[in-house]
Amino acid sequence: QEKDYQFMLRTRNPGGFIPPQLYLALDKMADDYGNGTLRATTRQGFQMHGILKKNLKAAIATIVNNLGSTLGACGDLNRNVMAPPVPYKNRPEYQYAWEYATNVADLLTPQTGAYYEIWLDGEKAISAEESPEVKAARQSNGNGTIIHEGEEPLYGSHYMPRKFKCSVTVPGDNSVDLFSQDVSLVVITNKKKELQGFNVYAGGGLGRTHNKEETFARVADPIGYVEKEDIYNLIKAILSTQRDYGDRTNRRHARMKYLINDWGVAKFKTTVEGYFGKEIAPLKPLPEFKYKDFLGWEEQGDGKLFLGISIDNGRIKDEGNFQLRTALREIVAKYSVPMRVTPHQNVLLYDIAPEARSPITEILTRCGVIVEPKEIETLTRYSMACPALPTCGLAVTESERVIPSILERIRALLDKLGLQNESFVIRMTGCPNGCARPYMAELGFVGSFPESYQVWLAGCPDQTRLAQVYTDRVHVNDLETFFEPIFVYFKQSKQKKESFGDFCHRVGLDAIREFTANYDPN
Ligand code: SF4
Repeated sequence: QEKDYQFMLRTRNPGGFIPPQLYLALDKMADDYGNGTLRATTRQGFQMHGILKKNLKAAIATIVNNLGSTLGACGDLNRNVMAPPVPYKNRPEYQYAWEYATNVADLLTPQTGAYYEIWLDGEKAISAEESPEVKAARQSNGNGTIIHEGEEPLYGSHYMPRKFKCSVTVPGDNSVDLFSQDVSLVVITNKKKELQGFNVYAGGGLGRTHNKEETFARVADPIGYVEKEDIYNLIKAILSTQRDYGDRTNRRHARMKYLINDWGVAKFKTTVEGYFGKEIAPLKPLPEFKYKDFLGWEEQGDGKLFLGISIDNGRIKDEGNFQLRTALREIVAKYSVPMRVTPHQNVLLYDIAPEARSPITEILTRCGVIVEPKEIETLTRYSMACPALPTCGLAVTESERVIPSILERIRALLDKLGLQNESFVIRMTGCPNGCARPYMAELGFVGSFPESYQVWLAGCPDQTRLAQVYTDRVHVNDLETFFEPIFVYFKQSKQKKESFGDFCHRVGLDAIREFTANYDPN
């Protein structure tokens, strides 16, 4: 008899888009095939753990037959394309970000028929029509040759050296953590809000390995500006550069960030321009990027409303009086509203008629879900954790299961030290792979040994700067003694309105080490 092999399944939803039919199918699947919960991921998809091998085909077929897909959500190819989840209908730049996230995802979708052969007995699913422009861009290799349906025009026979991650955002909105991606596009419009082109950033990536200095987290570099007509060719040129020159001998050195780091941005850009066939223009000026989470009720610009709901670590479950899964099922079934999974593991329901606001609020309140963002504890609101134990095979220690107690202890310590009004971005992972993007947080915990974490400091509240490693190993039992001197120094020396991450960055980690070495708690 075959063993009960079980799998994790992840969905592909550009910009986090989940139509109501798909959400209801996923919710049912959580009982039929999963562990009774759904998990919103940091790349705006859903993950489901515990699917037995014998149920895998039925599970994937259910997703595809309900307007979803899992194609390319894992593997050495383009992953789920991210975009700000917010549905502002009166701000065209947001609509362009959604449109181009879908188009980039379509452009970089593998053309294999094997997916449908294996999981759907060869039947192609009904899905949204792809833009003819995107299809033409994928099928042309840049010099006029048309590549035939069924061939892999971009990935060739060997796909990419490693995963490839893209996002599309709008000026000023860093809800997608744009500096952590392989390629990020920023929508550029004219004064009439018509789309002109995109600023392009490349070479971000967070995964690393402990004690291997040659692996590191890296933020993306500015590459330049391209007109909208050229954007697909530029993305293909970047992808081709990584496909042809990325390291295929050492997986730990295979992400595009290492190619850019080894070559330098100038050589990378010149090589990309060789594939692209023209020079890339300088970046257009942009305002500063700010992190946004879009929680609570808000007008979406066309008379309808959206509601961002905070979900601790993305886990949609029913537990005691907390009945989030029931609430979301009831709302989506009754009001047939679409959803966007946010890059911060939350969900945003939208296209809600104003008269549905109060009954939806009532459902959530009855199910023990906080609707008013001000009522969410701020450390919790801005924190993220990866699943780690018991479901992730790479985890060296806990993450999702311990972060609530760790946030409580940090809050209690801040209160004790008279820092009750302070809050900052805390992210935790169970290994250095960095799925919850801890290296962009103001305070990052990265599992390094059982019950112990590497501590990263000096990221910023808007995730535009990489944090730095402060120490390699703190046992979870020692958090209070470890952080007390750091927080005391912060209290004594912070500037007005300076956040914890900005303070650590300004004074430097050596100054913090010196202060803590001389700290006398009495
Ligand atoms: Fe697993 Fe590591 Fe990713 Fe956490 S960061 S989910 S432990 S691979």
